[in-house]
Amino acid sequence: MIPRFKPSIDLEELRCLFLRHKGKVKIFEKKFAEKFQAKAAISFPYGRSAQWAFLKALDIKDKEIIMPSYTCSVVAHSITLSGNKPIFVDINLNDFNMNLEELEKAISIKTKGIIATHTFGYPQDINKIKEIIKRAEERYRTKIYLINDCCHAFGAEIDGEIIGKTGDVSIYAFNVSKIITSIFGGMLTFQDESLARKVKQWRDSNYKKPNFFKKISRRLYLLGIFIAFNSKFYSITWWLQRKTIFLNYFTKSFHLDEKIHFPPDYLDFMLDVEAAIGLIQLKKYDYIVQKRREKALQYSKVLAKNSEWILPPIRDGATYSHFTVRVKNRKKVIDSYQKKGIELGELIQYSIPSLKCYEVDNVKVKFKNSEEASKTTINFPL
Ligand SMILES: *Cc1c(COP(=O)(O)O)cnc(C)c1O
Repeated sequence: MIPRFKPSIDLEELRCLFLRHKGKVKIFEKKFAEKFQAKAAISFPYGRSAQWAFLKALDIKDKEIIMPSYTCSVVAHSITLSGNKPIFVDINLNDFNMNLEELEKAISIKTKGIIATHTFGYPQDINKIKEIIKRAEERYRTKIYLINDCCHAFGAEIDGEIIGKTGDVSIYAFNVSKIITSIFGGMLTFQDESLARKVKQWRDSNYKKPNFFKKISRRLYLLGIFIAFNSKFYSITWWLQRKTIFLNYFTKSFHLDEKIHFPPDYLDFMLDVEAAIGLIQLKKYDYIVQKRREKALQYSKVLAKNSEWILPPIRDGATYSHFTVRVKNRKKVIDSYQKKGIELGELIQYSIPSLKCYEVDNVKVKFKNSEEASKTTINFPL
């Protein structure tokens, strides 16, 4: 069985699990900032925790933060848990990114931030978003933060410029399903050093050292992932996941879409061992993305034969965190590929405004594209 996603970890990362790595977090932050052309990078235990901390550190509360309706639910949860309200904007179906006309309409006097998610690695038109923000700032005489969600778009470029450089802050996440991993973990990057200092100070006085148990369990977790995704064992992994509850720890408990919550350790600093893994992965980044680009190009040629399917675009500067195809009968397609030994998957099977915890009205009309994407998308192994 070819897995639909597989972290690029090998013996170098594995060896890391058996060593001590004192001081690696600071080094990882420094190297990460260098790699993605930021003035400063600040690490967190999860991407969601990073996003939440940014809003908390700037004391933004009882405000509206605008975000796409079709993305990871944790983006909305982070906004809610920070004491603010997520305002959803429908997506375009061609590249799954936020519709910018709708974005402009969604801005109000309470808007304090806009989360631009570069979904599946497709860079948003940042210049257009900046113009929209400028107009709104003049109109409402307030600062509106441009928050880039780069979790799918590490190093993605638009007009030759790295997306992560373009906003007030950029968010990255490193769980094992991301472009590069540090077991778990998240990062904020900044172009403004004084803003970075403020967030760092807030983190340092509100986060704590991880306990011993976590240091061990995170190592075991990555070891487990390494074994589970080994090509010799993957058929067993796949079977266990499909037919039993044994692997729920890896796949379900971490991600309850329907519930607004954070994992209990969301106030821990990133672990040294996570930073050490991240440093190794950072060196592989160029290779990993190059391979993704090649495969996306191959897929778009080979799969074009199937006229019923709608393929995702090939774009300069995209990072293809996922290769996401829209099909009519998702289950049938997944089953037929499964018989050929290829695991396809459903990725984001919800439109956030339709989740019970958000109770937005009129979702079928207002978030039509997002609904459509949630029902028709499948992703291919990269
Ligand atoms: C993974 C992801 C996040 C959050 O990252 P965690 O580390 O899981 O909290 C946020 N936004 C997007 C688009 C993601 O894919």
